[in-house]
Amino acid sequence: MKNIPLVDLKAQYAGIKTEVDSAVHRVLEQASFILGPEVQQFERDFAAYVGADGAVGVASGTAALQLSLLAIGIKPGDEVITTAHTFMATAEAISQTGAKPVFVDIDPRTYNIDPQRIKAAITDRTRAIIPVHLYGQPADLEPILEIARVRKLRIIEDAAQAHGAEYHKARCGSIGDLACFSFYPGKNLGAYGDAGAVTGQDKSLLDRIRKLRDHGRTSKYEHDEIGYGERMDALQAAVLGVKLNRIEQWTEDRRRHARLYDELLAEAPVETPQEAPHNRHVYHLYVIRTKQRNTLLTHLQANGIGAGIHYPVPLHRQPAYLTNGYTDVKLPETERAASEVLSLPMYPELVDEQIHYIARTIMEFFP
Ligand SMILES: *Cc1c(COP(=O)(O)O)cnc(C)c1O
Repeated sequence: MKNIPLVDLKAQYAGIKTEVDSAVHRVLEQASFILGPEVQQFERDFAAYVGADGAVGVASGTAALQLSLLAIGIKPGDEVITTAHTFMATAEAISQTGAKPVFVDIDPRTYNIDPQRIKAAITDRTRAIIPVHLYGQPADLEPILEIARVRKLRIIEDAAQAHGAEYHKARCGSIGDLACFSFYPGKNLGAYGDAGAVTGQDKSLLDRIRKLRDHGRTSKYEHDEIGYGERMDALQAAVLGVKLNRIEQWTEDRRRHARLYDELLAEAPVETPQEAPHNRHVYHLYVIRTKQRNTLLTHLQANGIGAGIHYPVPLHRQPAYLTNGYTDVKLPETERAASEVLSLPMYPELVDEQIHYIARTIMEFFP
């Protein structure tokens, strides 16, 4: 069997080449490259897909998080609750506003923030919670929304891995005050470069983000406040528009691959992902766990299988945070997950034969 990568963007391009090429040419002919009609069209289509009232296209998922935090008024000295079992950008965006990320441990079954542990982390400086829908599985938002309502906190969903994911039939991105999406190339909906979006229901928050992404501008030569250069470009919007038409089919393909992995690994001494009954998991990543993670990873790589680890070092153990007063933070489930999780190849274009080969290679590893 040939090498099987973790994600295969070349295979994806082969399936949409004609449409992508013509969308790119359209933008080149129009010669309007930053924001403009292509971005507006994508914003409308993406908001409709998510079931949100509006979407604002920005330069990356990281920019989406930064601008969302600024838009809800996060400032130095504030605290924002999130998890440490996520990509660096989640916490980085909090730190960049001058606020402090407060890490709450995860539920080991879903790898998402454990709502039961949130209350104990709230102080009189807490302003917001960022639940991350990790790997494409929605965080358990109902109890989190209830805490937010009682304690008057804002919710920003980190939906960077959760395009099309659903919680009790509502799409991620339509539930919190704001939600942040990444269109990094390897994400479920990926651009051909950096791009991101914020979705939400509150028009004034979205307008604020629209202004912040473009230098605080209210008209061509008027700047209301000091903003940022974090706009989406037209080429990315045009490519994303093509891919948005395919995302539902791709998501169903991912879910079918996940079912096959589940079935083939049922007898293996590894834990397969647990999809909560009210969730539509979109399997950005298919993550198993085992105490023999490192040796299993070596075995898979030796057999041409591109497995990965998301994420091997929790954020409170990153050098960037260790020097900033996190040495005493203890998050046992987060730390255990970091040492046991293993991501298997997952992308719509995988074929059953490849999944059978990966499962067989895993079964062979265990005596
Ligand atoms: C990818 C990702 C981000 C950052 O998105 P970029 O577009 O790479 O800036 C933020 N949070 C999570 C959970 C991610 O996976």
